[in-house]
Amino acid sequence: MLNTSITVFIGSIPITLRTIIINEGLRRRRWTIAATSLLIAASTHAGDSHQYTISVDASLSKMTVAARFSTAVTEISARSEDAPQILDAAYDCDAGEKLDTRGRRLVLPKAGITCLHYRVDLREGANSGRLSRILDPANIVVSPTLWMWRPRLSAADEIHVQFRLPDNVQVSVPWQPLNDVDNSFRLVASPQSGIAIAVFGAFDTVVVDVAGTALRIAILNSRSDVDTPAVAEWVRETAGIIALAYGRFPNTSARIVVIPVGVSLWGGDSAVPFGRVVRDGGETIELFINEQRPVSEYYGAWTATHEFSHLLLPYVQRGQRWISEGFAQYYQNLLLARAGQYTEIHAWQELVDGFERGRQSAPDRSPNAATADGERSARMKIYWSGAALALMADVELRRRSGGGESLDIVLDRMQQCCLPSAGTWSGVDLFRKFDTLVDEPLFMDLYRQYADATGFPDIRRLLEQLGVRAEGGEVRLSDDAELATIRRALTIPDPRTSKRATDER
Ligand SMILES: [Zn+2]
Repeated sequence: MLNTSITVFIGSIPITLRTIIINEGLRRRRWTIAATSLLIAASTHAGDSHQYTISVDASLSKMTVAARFSTAVTEISARSEDAPQILDAAYDCDAGEKLDTRGRRLVLPKAGITCLHYRVDLREGANSGRLSRILDPANIVVSPTLWMWRPRLSAADEIHVQFRLPDNVQVSVPWQPLNDVDNSFRLVASPQSGIAIAVFGAFDTVVVDVAGTALRIAILNSRSDVDTPAVAEWVRETAGIIALAYGRFPNTSARIVVIPVGVSLWGGDSAVPFGRVVRDGGETIELFINEQRPVSEYYGAWTATHEFSHLLLPYVQRGQRWISEGFAQYYQNLLLARAGQYTEIHAWQELVDGFERGRQSAPDRSPNAATADGERSARMKIYWSGAALALMADVELRRRSGGGESLDIVLDRMQQCCLPSAGTWSGVDLFRKFDTLVDEPLFMDLYRQYADATGFPDIRRLLEQLGVRAEGGEVRLSDDAELATIRRALTIPDPRTSKRATDER
């Protein structure tokens, strides 16, 4: 249960209470379950630091942006090709000159500019997206790629963004919040793995504590009711499962956006039809829910656990996502067992079924080649070959160290050194890095052996050693097998790293 204090936003003033208040002045109640402060100290850094002040009107139709650059900038662009269509006007505010656009760029004087003002037709931007037909119009989704005109950021640069919003308007952006009350954020370089969304208007903002990390959740308003406390508790529990990998949530500034889409958008009857991780300006996990289904059904869907598992790795380039998908598949099943949602045998049934689907998928292609071909022809190869490698590495690490090392520990060290990462990693970058985090390298050996080899990594003997036997497709576990102790350790939390996570749960 949610046993923390509750903060209700009345206007922009947070009032902390133990009970829920319904603010009659707002269309809906909005409340924050504040577990820990989101306060993040501003870092000192060597690069440019630009200042943006962004205002949105109460009807969510117009956005006004005032930007001050720390040095004259000679190039300003927006990421979306549609951005110029919703740009009302842009000015060089030092010279008082109107600026033209050429494609996605502003045409700037040769010496550059230090001051930029522009207006955006926010509502038009929202209406161009599919979510506008599904969500309550009191909250709108408009990606920053449509309205954020800015210089390119090097790794050392940052933009401080301060939103000035009317009392009934909240904002959710992927950027790092600088505090939990005044809507200011820090935008730094990121892999831009996809297009992150921004949300404006009336929606629920909840902060939950996951193994000591304050996770921000935006729960958007659909045209039908969403059970906010129950949905927030589901997200908290599911995110908590990830802490069973090594005792912490991988990213302290991740943002979660829950998007109620009913059955209208992504079809199907699933309670959680779709999810994705977007590493654009920060790490966002988008969870699409069917709010017409009871929240109890969300717990049975593995979509959210899979998406959260992606955060255990940095962003791996799209052409090699058999690594990120495979590690997520592997961890999602182990972690659901560690959390008690799967029995040990069920986790192995899922893994063995997956490996078999992977083995049958595009057998004449290697993982790298199959991923380059695209998902349609080799989906199961993309989703399971990396899981087989993860299993091989995990078992070998545990076997040769007598349990002293494990994939959990490698990922723990990876998080400490490198996550969240602003970069895009190749498979070789990642496996080389992993090899520096263990006593004796093994990841690059696995990569060389399997990444460009046709067929599927042969793990039949390994499964046998672990005491995992599939007879007629049905898994049986044997505790007499040579590596049965290692197998059992995979599906229980490691007491060295997960004590804190289990305490929190
Ligand atoms: Zn995935």
